[in-house]
Amino acid sequence: MGRGRNTIAENINGWMMKKKKEYPNSSDVIYYCVEQYSHHKCPGAWVINKVTNEYRIVKPHRNHERDALANQTRFARQALKDKSGNGTCREVIDNVRAEFGAEASVALGTYDTKRRIIHREKSRFDPETTEMDKGGNISTTYSRTLDGKPFLLVDKIVNQHRLLVFGSETGLQLLARSFIVFVDGTFDCCPPGYQQMFSFHVYGNA
Ligand SMILES: [Zn+2]
Repeated sequence: MGRGRNTIAENINGWMMKKKKEYPNSSDVIYYCVEQYSHHKCPGAWVINKVTNEYRIVKPHRNHERDALANQTRFARQALKDKSGNGTCREVIDNVRAEFGAEASVALGTYDTKRRIIHREKSRFDPETTEMDKGGNISTTYSRTLDGKPFLLVDKIVNQHRLLVFGSETGLQLLARSFIVFVDGTFDCCPPGYQQMFSFHVYGNA
């Protein structure tokens, strides 16, 4: 089972289904279709006997087909998340492609899409990220440049809002020397997980 995620889907005779409940003193397990809450609203429910592996259809699948590639793609997406902690993005993506096939890998999206899925999953369980999401201290990873110099310049409350200023020494020098400065900001109102950002850019000749 995934860390903190919903029950993992299983391939039941080519249909993607999730274990709903086990019956006490019985080998019977009831599975519901993963499309139960999607736009398909599939009522599919099967009872599987874990000993004999026989299944009984309580309610048949409806409103969608048994789509092998779609299922394989969903399994591949699940695997990307499950394996996100095992190596670099490239390694995780290559392993998932080897396991689920090139077609499912392509259907999952571009390399960048897959990388984002892995990064999101990695960060879900990173204690530093969790701390920062709760409004805690900015970790060293994000408050220093790659060569260890200060990057977080200001961290204080202004008008009841936390104001963070990031900038490198080199960046500040460039800004101070520039005659043309571009500034841009995102909206104050934004979905959870995002913050308003205001950035400074300079026009320079290398
Ligand atoms: Zn279904």
